[in-house]
Amino acid sequence: MSKHTPGPWCVRHDDMVCSQEGRIIADCESTPYAMRPAPPIVEDKANATLIAAAPELLAALKAASEWLNDMGCEHEEPDLTCVVCLVHIAINKAEGREG
Ligand SMILES: [Zn+2]
Repeated sequence: MSKHTPGPWCVRHDDMVCSQEGRIIADCESTPYAMRPAPPIVEDKANATLIAAAPELLAALKAASEWLNDMGCEHEEPDLTCVVCLVHIAINKAEGREG
């Protein structure tokens, strides 16, 4: 069971990621608040968009993982050329089990 704020998450004010209840998940503004540029920095907006997609990305990877496991992966150490290993690495990172 995931411990993160339930999705979907959305982007507000171009660079903030919020839950459906309006709780701030992340503020992707890369400059101090008083110096915020208008319009927001393109990279900040892209980062917020990526983070907002995280719950759906994780759910999709978990679904893909179940399907990929049927294909088999016999790597005892992660192989960065193996899609099964890459999916497991990404899920572990998203759930705080990296390293
Ligand atoms: Zn593998």
